[in-house]
Amino acid sequence: MSECKDKINTIRKKLINWYKKNGRDFPWRHTSDSYKIMIAEFMLHRTRAEQVVPVYNDFIQRFPNVFALSKAKTEEIQKYTETLGLHWRYKHFIESATYILENFNGNFPDDYRLLSTIPGIGEYISCAISIISYKKPAPVVDSNIARFLNRFFNLGANGEIRRKKLIVKKSEEFFNTRNCDELLFSTIDFCAFICKPGKLLCEECILNIFCEYYLLKANP
Ligand code: SF4
Repeated sequence: MSECKDKINTIRKKLINWYKKNGRDFPWRHTSDSYKIMIAEFMLHRTRAEQVVPVYNDFIQRFPNVFALSKAKTEEIQKYTETLGLHWRYKHFIESATYILENFNGNFPDDYRLLSTIPGIGEYISCAISIISYKKPAPVVDSNIARFLNRFFNLGANGEIRRKKLIVKKSEEFFNTRNCDELLFSTIDFCAFICKPGKLLCEECILNIFCEYYLLKANP
């Protein structure tokens, strides 16, 4: 095994062990149902996860699958999206359900490229569904994951880094593992608590001896 692969395997294991002790528990992390993951991701758009939990639970009870959602009235969905401040995004809920019924017979595809054709499902959500529902590795990148990969591997990306090819490529490599679902949850929480956008917790970071950003800071 190459040194680089070895290092990636080590940090994957460390992240997952960290998550087992420190990770957050959300209802959408106990399911592999693509529909439920899609609804959670729609709701999590720029909204704190803790705030989403009661709305998500209520929504799933009322609309447990795409068939139920496709029959929903616009005003019913708006009640949920207004609560979360998502406003015009109510359209994605009904349009996605109708699209999945019409194009995929009500079954979510397991390929992230096909998933990304569904209205409202962008690159991040399609990759997240592929990873969580089907355990199929995909180049999942949001601004937090991009920031972590950019720092850790000292990729030197600037600007809107989550769209940069070298970040997407690194994510594809990083999440290319059997337990990509666990690794994704681990990375999301690690980016929320340790490798944060503002004040980094490098000194207490379990990955610091492997992190190029940290090592460069220590030995400029
Ligand atoms: S050492 Fe600092 S920059 Fe590196 S992964 Fe940890 S928190 Fe992020």
